[in-house]
Amino acid sequence: MASEFDVIIVGGGAAGIGAARRLAAQGVSALLLESSPRFGGRAYTQDLGGYPLDLGCEWLHSGDRNAWVGIAEAAGLPVDRSDPPWAQAHPGIARNEDDEESARQAYGDWEERLRAVTKGSDRANDAMESDNQWNAYVRAIAGFMSCVSPEDISATDYLAYDDASTGENWNLPLGYGTLVAASLPPSTALRLATPAERIDLTADGVAVATRAGTLRAEAVILTVSTAVLAGDAIRLPPGTEPWREAAAVLPLGRNEKVFLEIGPGAAFGPDSHAYGNLRDARSAAYSIRPNGWPVIEAFLGGEGARILREEGPAAGFAHTKTELVGLFGNEVASAIRPLAATSWSRMATIGGAYSCALPGEARARARLAQPFEDRLFFAGEATHPFDFTTAHGAHDSGVRAADEALVALHGRVRAGRRDALAAGTRAAG
Ligand SMILES: Cc1cc2nc3c(=O)[nH]c(=O)nc-3n(C[C@H](O)[C@H](O)[C@H](O)COP(=O)(O)OP(=O)(O)OC[C@H]3O[C@@H](n4cnc5c(N)ncnc54)[C@H](O)[C@@H]3O)c2cc1C
Repeated sequence: MASEFDVIIVGGGAAGIGAARRLAAQGVSALLLESSPRFGGRAYTQDLGGYPLDLGCEWLHSGDRNAWVGIAEAAGLPVDRSDPPWAQAHPGIARNEDDEESARQAYGDWEERLRAVTKGSDRANDAMESDNQWNAYVRAIAGFMSCVSPEDISATDYLAYDDASTGENWNLPLGYGTLVAASLPPSTALRLATPAERIDLTADGVAVATRAGTLRAEAVILTVSTAVLAGDAIRLPPGTEPWREAAAVLPLGRNEKVFLEIGPGAAFGPDSHAYGNLRDARSAAYSIRPNGWPVIEAFLGGEGARILREEGPAAGFAHTKTELVGLFGNEVASAIRPLAATSWSRMATIGGAYSCALPGEARARARLAQPFEDRLFFAGEATHPFDFTTAHGAHDSGVRAADEALVALHGRVRAGRRDALAAGTRAAG
């Protein structure tokens, strides 16, 4: 049966949109299938209290080489290149600068010890000193970066990201999710609320089964998260077990956000930052009045995000309120009220925040990025060799998978022409 589309892209996050843009630029027809009623995936800006707040990705990490910067500027969306408030060294409000300095030093020393660990167990926890008073702080920061505890972090993987990062962190005042959602090319066909349930190789391409029927194409680019890929929501062709196994050792950790609204007259300074408690691994990092808005955004990583996952949003609000009272005093308790809390790890179509390689498994990213039978191509943040965990890494992985699909498609066209030519020559003879 003739295919209606050259390529079907499964998943409409930053990777799927990156792939769609590359295919559209090459004049290749594509259909994007997205399971949820909106696209953007972990890039999601929501209007909360009248402000465009990012529930997922927010910072243009490695901004000076981040593809989304050029896309934003071409679309006329402003990019704020000033230093993020959190780049200033965690200025807790009830501050003890000596403690802050020694906590930061402890984190830096841990990162250095990670290099030795890569040559042995590769378990990031083995770089912890058993008696270091700042272990909780190190666990919290590692949790923000990798969303899991150091016991589950590959030191090699952790350092690969760190070493490649340029340290430039820029911002999109209208929201990262706004940009990603505005970037799907008009020529890409889109079906929302249409999960891919099964993918099969056929004699001449690929078939993707959905509740709304089976769709056919020359190739599929699969961009779902590793949690989805390792689960049983999509049946993949026989022979793809190694891809599922690779996804399973790149699990998504937890990172969640809690948003609080600041009432009138409350004494929070604009665009400032605070760190909850240097001695609590569940502590949150607080953005206070980002862009001057009357909002506090609490970022909970690893062990802190577990509170939301296991106890729900009310427990997340209570935890952040307790920390803010500890920092600013009792009077702030009546000045803040819950606005929203995320639940990325509870969403079946995503299943967490971003991927982290288990100890000894850093090479799984390269295995996951391999094409299968030149018809099934894999993208998504987890497949990027060093910009994993990010929206720009996801974008670039989509471009890479689209390029692989284009080469395969052109190869098949060439082979088809050669066969037709050979048949014509035989007929003429
Ligand atoms: C709280 C939080 C904060 C973050 N902060 C930052 C940040 O500041 N900067 C940064 O760069 N990154 C950040 N990230 C990470 C970034 O958001 C992700 O790495 C990136 O958006 C992932 O894009 P993706 O396309 O790989 O995956 P996804 O965004 O997960 O896209 C996959 C899509 O596939 C869809 N899907 C699932 N199953 C099916 C199916 N069966 N059929 C069809 N579609 C399906 C999903 O609904 C989803 O839309 C953050 C993430 C979180 C959660």
